[in-house]
Amino acid sequence: MSTPLVRAIFRERSALRRRSFCNVKVNFINSAGGRLIPEGIISEIRNRTDIVALVSEHVKLKRTGANYVGICPFHPDKTPSFSVHRARQFFHCFGCHVSGDAISFVMRIENLSFMEAVRILAKRANIEIEEISDDESRAQQREKAQKERLFALSQIAADFYHEQLQSHPSAEIAQRELRKRNVSSETVKKFHLGYAPDGWDELSRFIAEKRLSLSEAEQVGLIIPRRSSSGYYDRFRGRLIFPVFDTHGRVVAFSGRALDHPAARTDKQEPKYVNSPESPLYKKGSILFGLYQNRVAIRRNGWAVLCEGNFDLLALFQAGVINAVAPLGTAFTLNHAYLIRRFAQRLTVLFDGDAAGRKAVRSIYPFLVKAGLSARVVNLPAGDDPDSFIRTKGAEALIRLIEGSAGIVETIIDETAESALRQAADIALAIRQLGPIIAEVQSPVERHKYIDRVAQRFEIRDLRSIYKELRAGARGSAKGEERTTSTKKSKKSSVPTGERRDNLSKLQGDLLGILLDFPELFDDPKAKKLEELLTNEQLRVIFHTAETQTRATRDLSASTLLDQVETQIGNTSAYLWLQERLAVQKYDSVVNAREALDKGVPVLRKQYIESKVQSLTREIQVARRSGDENRAIELTKQRYELWRSAPNS
Ligand code: ATP
Ligand code: MN
Repeated sequence: MSTPLVRAIFRERSALRRRSFCNVKVNFINSAGGRLIPEGIISEIRNRTDIVALVSEHVKLKRTGANYVGICPFHPDKTPSFSVHRARQFFHCFGCHVSGDAISFVMRIENLSFMEAVRILAKRANIEIEEISDDESRAQQREKAQKERLFALSQIAADFYHEQLQSHPSAEIAQRELRKRNVSSETVKKFHLGYAPDGWDELSRFIAEKRLSLSEAEQVGLIIPRRSSSGYYDRFRGRLIFPVFDTHGRVVAFSGRALDHPAARTDKQEPKYVNSPESPLYKKGSILFGLYQNRVAIRRNGWAVLCEGNFDLLALFQAGVINAVAPLGTAFTLNHAYLIRRFAQRLTVLFDGDAAGRKAVRSIYPFLVKAGLSARVVNLPAGDDPDSFIRTKGAEALIRLIEGSAGIVETIIDETAESALRQAADIALAIRQLGPIIAEVQSPVERHKYIDRVAQRFEIRDLRSIYKELRAGARGSAKGEERTTSTKKSKKSSVPTGERRDNLSKLQGDLLGILLDFPELFDDPKAKKLEELLTNEQLRVIFHTAETQTRATRDLSASTLLDQVETQIGNTSAYLWLQERLAVQKYDSVVNAREALDKGVPVLRKQYIESKVQSLTREIQVARRSGDENRAIELTKQRYELWRSAPNS
């Protein structure tokens, strides 16, 4: 029964469940404004808990420098990816990217809520649990019950809308739309589709009549308080309703599609879709429409299809593509990529056949690489989306397209070649823009194939000049944030100092990392210099947040820093870099750290100037070629000034 595979799956499942507990914690702190448990007690618990001893009860740890490493308990891990830092009270897995402090470790490993974990650790640390336990359990129960009520209310609302679709006198307009879109009644059932009648308070009245809580309905965004008078009005009116489920099948949000009402409010421009706002149940970048219904097929095949629209997802489902997900109108995030990765390794991107869809393919690529998803891309004819394509050309035709889809890098190369202008300078620029993308590719053979393809598509025989151009492009994207962090999925990625990243950003991260190892160095004059040289916006945010915290508390708390940084830059690559960087300590003494800082800052300054000079040189060439002599002269002056200011070495 308990074969390794079963255990692995079980572990994976529990990890999923534990993740949701982690959200509970965040919500708890948010909703209670951090007041229910005094922050002092929490930090007391953190301070008194030796995270290494704690983790050692579950994981065999080996010491390497200031860190301890072991096999990750949260994912099927072959190499020791799990790292624990004692002084920082912080753990991080380089494989599954889970990280946190002693409290979150206990939450995950024991599958407990925040409060329960706090209580256990308080007991271990001999902190007066008796006194807080009453409050604690009450607060904990209140919070849990509160969320349960929000889930229940959302489910009731979903049932209400579903029922209206069958029985409301004006539901015909929704039914007509469904017929027009060939949505079958089984699909309606499977996705629990509904209809929000076209009145101002249909749902509000229903909730009031059922004696449910209006304020809770407001909390989940179903109703909105009136500005002029008391009472509420419905958020969703005259719309087809797509309830959105989390992976456990609980309703967390709604997406409402406008319908052509006969008495259409043509004067008012109603948006095509209205979605639930964020709430204690719903965070935008981390929910995928359709994942719940399609999760079994996705996991079974290790393969998911990513489409843009709700209707696309339904059409695909009916066409037998029962492994699609859609991000509900928000931009696709790294969180989405990780969410998919928990169910599948392979992804087929099936975006609309328009310019926006093609552009989106390019922008999601770094996230897919980062999450370790290998991707193919379906090229739909211009003007089609999966739904319209299936309706006009049939399911078979779509499935053939999916089967014939090309790799994502091939697609990006082809697109770039097709849309590039034919002037030599434009071609060079287009190839440079491919540099960062091809640089992400791990396999040398694969990379070689791509370079061949670039040669073919751009009709350039000399491979070496392509190499050079690509490399220049990979280096030149120093300004772009995506390059801050390694997108390597290999275990050894440790801190994101991937060789292929441009030196400029790499060095910026390396130097900032020194300050994270020894925050007292924020007082060093070299730190000030470093600040001026940070060209990467997100690294600057990290610098300032860490500096402010250090000045305020004379200390740096890894979990507080991560929280603060995340609220500013979200779950971006730089945030992930920070997570990984906080998990290790590279310098063991402040003397070594200061020395590295002293050495590194001038080097960064030099590189900074060189890269500036390079890009100015490119701009000068472009200006010359296009005959803009004045601009070329202006730029040349700038370049000269830079040279002069360079440290002489
Ligand atoms: P249709 O085929 O009826 O035009 P669609 O589902 O194909 O609808 P798209 O315009 O392709 O819609 O948009 C894709 C998805 O983006 C939608 O399914 C919806 O989830 C989301 N979306 C679209 N417009 C909005 C909007 N105004 N506000 C919020 N989300 C939106
Ligand atoms: Mn559509």
